[in-house]
Amino acid sequence: MQTLVFWLLFLTFVGAFAAQVARRVQLIGAAPNTFSTDTFSFRARRFLLDVIFQLRTIKERPVAGVAHAFVFWGFVAFGGYTLTEFLRGLGIVDQTHSGWFNAYRTVLAPFAVAVLGGILYLLIRRAFVRPVGLGTKVSLESIVIALFIATLMITFLLTFRLEEGTMAERANWWLHMIVILAFMALIPASKHFHLVVSPITVFLKSPELGNLPNLDFEKEQVGLETVKDLGSKSVLDAFTCVECGRCQVNCPAWGAGKELNPKTIILQTQEALLTGERERKLGELYSEKVLWQCTTCGACENQCPVGIEHLPILIGSRRGLVSNGDAPEYLGAMYNNLERRSNIWGLGYDQRAKFVQAAGLETFDAAKHDVLVWLGCAGSFDADFQKSLRSLFAILRAKDVKFGVLAKERCNGDPAKRTGNEYMFQELANGNIEELKAAGAKKILTSCPHCVKTIGNDYRKFGYEVEILHTSVFVEQLLRRDGARIDSGPAAAGASPDGGTRETVTFHDPCYLGRYAGNVDEPRALLTRFGADIKEPERNRENPYCCGAGGGLLFADKEEEPGSRISDVRFKQLQATGANTVVTACPFCSIMLKGAQASAGADTQFVDLMTFVKDRL
Ligand code: SF4
Ligand code: SF4
Repeated sequence: MQTLVFWLLFLTFVGAFAAQVARRVQLIGAAPNTFSTDTFSFRARRFLLDVIFQLRTIKERPVAGVAHAFVFWGFVAFGGYTLTEFLRGLGIVDQTHSGWFNAYRTVLAPFAVAVLGGILYLLIRRAFVRPVGLGTKVSLESIVIALFIATLMITFLLTFRLEEGTMAERANWWLHMIVILAFMALIPASKHFHLVVSPITVFLKSPELGNLPNLDFEKEQVGLETVKDLGSKSVLDAFTCVECGRCQVNCPAWGAGKELNPKTIILQTQEALLTGERERKLGELYSEKVLWQCTTCGACENQCPVGIEHLPILIGSRRGLVSNGDAPEYLGAMYNNLERRSNIWGLGYDQRAKFVQAAGLETFDAAKHDVLVWLGCAGSFDADFQKSLRSLFAILRAKDVKFGVLAKERCNGDPAKRTGNEYMFQELANGNIEELKAAGAKKILTSCPHCVKTIGNDYRKFGYEVEILHTSVFVEQLLRRDGARIDSGPAAAGASPDGGTRETVTFHDPCYLGRYAGNVDEPRALLTRFGADIKEPERNRENPYCCGAGGGLLFADKEEEPGSRISDVRFKQLQATGANTVVTACPFCSIMLKGAQASAGADTQFVDLMTFVKDRL
């Protein structure tokens, strides 16, 4: 009789679980396939670190992360126990009196205590502490799930106390099994579905942060217009979100008071999928205004503990808008500049030629030069940034590095790509690839982190592979090779190289250098080596706060934006370090932060990293 009752309960709850999972699997299967398993070893390593060792979860929020890790490890450890009890309940086989099962139970006891401690901590945090990223509403479903898990652990621990065959022992067993079944039925309809899918989502996450595969125009791909255009990985992402809010609290747009919230984007996607709104326009679902607020800084994707990729959705939707002629007006002007003059400011290339001549630069010749210096739009036309390039040239000449520049350079295409104008990006990229191939460049240097990402990663999708380094990385390697002379100099003795006192500076990590390329040590090594005491700002290294220029927002009409400007927020964070000198290593960061400084009426000095080094070399 008991077995029959258990079978009925089992079929009811497992049926509910399977029906909900099938609905989600069907939605994933109906989406255009965007799954990829290339670079298997990278994915396997990340799976090990982020899923098995829970490192990403622990890294940002150590206490909550460890509590979560206890629950996860316990969930895995209890897998065999649960299965054995199910087989017993269903009358298939009873192994619960075997020697191995008793030993296994004993091993599980410390896990149960850890899970109980972890889940109670998370319950208190969710229900009473309420960190901002978790939202303002207390989620009833989270409370129920936490109580279920606590009940499972308590009923398990009671098995060591209760005598077998007693009424109390039977009641305890039934409670344990019914809670597991109810838990299973609740999982797919809640954020706890991540227990099932997040290991797959983490494995399928692209190894490249902000990965935006090329559109294939021959296949008439135009980007994402409606919910049904979302790729299979994005649909899987929508069902994986654990609503932790890490993406939200790290998003500079949200931090500056704008409407964009990456967590909301994922939850809106999930709701639209589950309510069958396949034909809903994405510009309407998320709102066009919100879509244009993203700087593509990558913080959301990078922080997400369960492998969700926001940028394919955000930029994919921008692509859909652009293909329908729905880009904001300020982008129209930039596109016009790119189309007519191949640079974001629409300036004549005679100005670049004048700079090249005045700086005494040679046209790159693979037989003669070690490296090709890529000037970029800022290096070609922005007088302020050209000072930084002159510093770079002085360093290279002082160290006898032979370098040249291309006779002709177009914008690398980053502002077109990340605002969704894929057609324009591909035009620019193909033109540049032709020039670079013709020049025979094997190693490229650039002072623009956006050029590093675009030429290094996006051009690879056209089959063009080249080594491209940010100048901070190249110069640091160069000077380290020459280290004896520098390290034995006065800087190593606690004074600046000219014998004066060390200078207090703060360093603003550009998103595309720190987060995307992971080059966080090289700029600091250079600064320290040349007499700087670095005061780290809030949000630094691999998780910097954006300057607000990325994703084409350098050109946005800032007056119309709600909340503070992202650059104002960042400038205040830099000011709060107390350092009067801010060192930057990206032309766009420099433009944005100087603008914020001017608005604040502050007397902070901005120095580009190359100029800082050159002045002290
Ligand atoms: S890329 Fe940056 S700005 Fe865009 S949604 Fe993510 S965190 Fe926000
Ligand atoms: S998208 Fe990722 S980081 Fe953002 S709330 Fe969901 S799980 Fe957390």
